[in-house]
Order: sequence, then structure tokens, then C-alpha cells
Amino acid sequence: MGRLVVVSNRVADPRKPGAGGLAVALADALQSSGGLWFGWSGKVVDEGSGGQLRTQRAGPVTLATVDLSRADHDAYYLGYSNGVLWPVFHYRLDLADFDAGDIDGYRRVNRLFAHKLQPLLQPDDVIWVHDYHLIPLAAELRAMGCTQRMGFFLHIPLPPRTILAAIPQNGWLMRSLMMYDLVGFHTQTDVDHFAAYVIKEAGGTQVGDDEFHAHGRVVRARPFPIGIDVDEFQALGRGPEARDTFRTMKEQYAQRQLLVGVDRLDYSKGLPQRIRAFQRLLQHYPENHKVATLIQVAAPSREDVEAYADLRHQLETLCGAVNGDHGELDWMPVRYIRRAVPRKRLPGLYASASVALVTPLRDGMNLVAKEYVAAQDPANPGVLVLSRFAGAAEAMTDALIVNPYDADGMAEVIQQALRMPLEERRVRHERLMAGLRAQDVHWWAREFLAALSA
Ligand code: UDP
Repeated sequence: MGRLVVVSNRVADPRKPGAGGLAVALADALQSSGGLWFGWSGKVVDEGSGGQLRTQRAGPVTLATVDLSRADHDAYYLGYSNGVLWPVFHYRLDLADFDAGDIDGYRRVNRLFAHKLQPLLQPDDVIWVHDYHLIPLAAELRAMGCTQRMGFFLHIPLPPRTILAAIPQNGWLMRSLMMYDLVGFHTQTDVDHFAAYVIKEAGGTQVGDDEFHAHGRVVRARPFPIGIDVDEFQALGRGPEARDTFRTMKEQYAQRQLLVGVDRLDYSKGLPQRIRAFQRLLQHYPENHKVATLIQVAAPSREDVEAYADLRHQLETLCGAVNGDHGELDWMPVRYIRRAVPRKRLPGLYASASVALVTPLRDGMNLVAKEYVAAQDPANPGVLVLSRFAGAAEAMTDALIVNPYDADGMAEVIQQALRMPLEERRVRHERLMAGLRAQDVHWWAREFLAALSA
């Protein structure tokens, strides 16, 4: 394989600790090929000074970043990526704002990235583009004459064609996606949605197991379910921060059975539905009174996008109601924490909880589900309650699978999780761990790059 070029909205410095599993895996792949990582610098600058390219060396890897002007950032990032693509790809047409005219900014920034990247490219580079912010990048590069192999990985779900079709620019957007040589998704369900779009909306044909012919090109599409770096995460669990968190939780909640939820404060995560299911648990199974405590971490996210402020108010009201209706002087049923918990502390929090509630309405994969399993003591593991609408559910069939829209059904399953005998917990955990190890994040990067180079 030639040199690897990774392009993503944000670039992580692989030398900095705590970058997360994805950054570690990409950095590994980049280091072995002496590669280039290109993306937005994270800086928003005054009008007129955007577009400046900066490069720096991080060991064998070159990091190249571009600043964005306020107008470009707001239209490309907040407007089109997170105001249109994020909600629609998570099946939330009701939350998409199609009138914003942000599509121009989205195209402009993708074109800017292509113009800044093209002079840095070598003829035999292999280019791997990440996520919904950058769908048109290959089309822009191809228009400039780039013939390198280009792959794309979508980190969020791809909805059915009838939902995609609501995006006014869906024809252009999906044609752009077909300009890659390989398109990777988390699940077979996403691949099926892609295939149906290509065949029924774009007039293409399936020409092989994972090959499609459309718009005069052949594009391959396959599932590559992303995993975590199991060893890295377990090593974090042995660190001082995680151990301190575990000890504190065990002391504070010695009399309780803990349930934990850890999410960004995002409408795709099904947080109000989860709190309602917990409320039903307390109503239907009173033995949990003064015993079960749900710790819900909701890390603030994209607060500049309107739909997120509404969600926050809804969640605060619900948690207040549950605590008001069921709480006692010495027991708060829900601990709602609107703050991010540092990654280094998370394994300790996970390990202290008997049950994890990972119940998104729709999620590309969901890494919290995998981190929770990796953080458990195999001799006495907790139970994962997982939404059937998380990509993770396709492989993690030994979790307790729930429908997050069914509050009563979910309450029943949470009760089953809280009462599950040790032997069953052990067997389920062992099988889940085997899956995590077989398809970890390094496997994911290797599989994708092998398919792209093939
Ligand atoms: N995370 C964290 N602190 C928090 C909340 C989340 O470090 O307070 C991390 C979490 O450990 C996981 C990631 O953020 O690695 C969330 O990834 P996931 O796939 O679950 O959801 P996303 O946020 O990408 O939609």
C-alpha cells in the first residue's frame, strides 16, 4: 500500500494521551505508512483569514490543518452537517432545517479542503475520508484530476432511501458518495440502505457481492463495524483516576444498586425515553425503591444548534419529576450530571455499575456499550441493556436488547438485568468480550485499509 492520507473534520495529535480509540487506531495506521492527517484546525477565524494551511510533524506523521472563517464554519459545520445531515441520517426529519441555505457553505468548505489537500498528495497515496462532514470531498478531488484510491467511512447510520430522499440535494449528495472506490458502514443494515438507494433512486445496478455500478463508476460498499481498543481501555481502568472513581462510587453508593448511562446530550440517544423507562421500573417494581440509583451523564454537545437546548429542558424537567415523585430524604433515584466525565475516569464509573443503559433511538455504532463491557470484572460482571437501534446491537446479541420507544418493555428488561444470576452474567459477558476482542478498532482499520488497497 502507498502512503496513507486520512482526512477527517478534526485531527487528533497522536502523541497526546487520551485521544481515544479511533485516534489511536488511525495514528497506528498512519505511523506505519509515514502518513498525512488532514482536517479542520478547530479554529474559527475572522472573515478573510480563513483557509490558512498549517503543517506540523508528529513523529513520522504530518498533521495538516486549515482554519475556517465564522461564516464557513457556521454553514458547513453547524448548518448543513449538524442541522441537516445529522438529524436526517438519524431518522429525525422533524428536526432538520432544510431552508437554511447552508448547502453552499458545505460545498465551499469541501472544495476548500480539496484545494488545500491536492498539492500535498502523491500519485500512489491511498486516501481515507471520514464521516458526514466530508461526503463530497472525493468528487471535488476527482474534479481536480486526482486518480488516487479513495475510501470513505460513515460513522453515523445511513437511513432508508425514502428518508434520504427528503434532503433536497440527495441526488447530488449520494452521487458524491459514489465517487469513492470503497464506502464503509457500521452495519449490514446501512449497506442495505445504500444498495437500495443506488438501485432504486440512482438507477444503478449491483454487479458483485459488494459492488455497484452507478454514474459510470464502480463503487464497493461493505460493513466494517468499528470497535474499541480493548487493551488501551482496560489499561485506563487500572490507572489512578479510574481506581479513584471506582472507590468513591462504591463508598458513596454502598447501599445501592447502580445503573449508569453515559452519553452526549443528543436527541439520538433516547435520554427522555430512558428516564421514563426508569420511572416505570420504580412504579412497577417497588422493591427498587431506595435501592436502584440511575447515574446519567449527559455531556454537553453542539449547544449552538437549537434542537439541543429543547432536549436539555425536557430532560431536566423529567429528572426533576422522577426525583420529586419517588425520592426520599436519603435517596435520589436519578443523578443527572450535565458535564462530561473525563475518559480516564469512565472505566471506574462503568465498573461500579450493575447495569448500563445504552438505549439510543438511533446510533451508528455506540462505543459506550463496548467500553462498559470492557470495564467489567469478568468474575462479577454487570449487565448491558442495549437498544436494538444502536449499530452495536447487530453483533452484541448477548446484551439484553430493548426497544427504547417501549417504556414498559424496557422497565421489564431493566428489572431482569438487575436480578440476573451471576452465572448468566458471566456467560453473557464472556461472549461479549470475545466479540470485542475479535473486532477491535485495530481490526477495523486493518480490514478497511486491506479492502481499499485490494
Ligand atoms: N465520552 C467521554 N465522556 C463523557 C461522555 C462520553 O469520554 O462524559 C466518550 C465515551 O467514552 C465514548 C465517546 O465519548 O468513547 C462517545 O462515543 P459513542 O460512540 O458512544 O457516541 P457518539 O458521542 O460518538 O455519538
